[in-house]
Amino acid sequence: MKVGVLALQGAFREHIRMLRELGAEAVEIRLPAGLDEVDGLIIPGGESTTMRKLMADFGLVEPLREFAASGKPVFGTCAGLIVMAERLGGRRQELLNLIDIDVERNAYGRQVDSREADISSDALGPEPFHAVFIRAPRILSTGPGVEPLARYRGQVVLARQNNILVAAFHPELTGDARVHKLFLQLFDRKARSLNRTGGHSTPREKTA
Ligand code: GLN
Repeated sequence: MKVGVLALQGAFREHIRMLRELGAEAVEIRLPAGLDEVDGLIIPGGESTTMRKLMADFGLVEPLREFAASGKPVFGTCAGLIVMAERLGGRRQELLNLIDIDVERNAYGRQVDSREADISSDALGPEPFHAVFIRAPRILSTGPGVEPLARYRGQVVLARQNNILVAAFHPELTGDARVHKLFLQLFDRKARSLNRTGGHSTPREKTA
């Protein structure tokens, strides 16, 4: 399979390295035409305001929406999560709108810009995952179709809605490839449809 990593800004090289370590073909994407050649996409961490502007300048917003709507897996980390969220601080953001979550930017305060913590997740297996948070966003609530996959201090930090996966932390900065493996599992259509009925009866969940 061939995976694109949006390479406008931020930590895209680390994702490429990790994908290649897992045996996937990984390429940098900067223009809409690049999306035609890949089966899935990672939107990396960085600075969401800059990324938002560059996505608009490069004419990527609508192509990215269409890419996700076609069912191809899209994984966003940190700033990537922010630009993919439907809501920012309770207000609908006019951007990609790929996942039904409400997000607050830089929510952990300036003094604790960066922190590392072991999180546990059934989706990742029995061993805790060492998560690196860098000026991380906080997921304030998740919609009924969103499946929380990991929490840190009660708050959802890894979540999935069908073909869309988001992490508030930076899994590409550790040597642990389990989150990327989870993403690559979404390329298997059958695995994706299995959970499609997952959360429909669940109400919106406040996580913060
Ligand atoms: N604080 C950044 C933002 O709001 C995200 C930080 C990151 O991606 N590590 O865009």
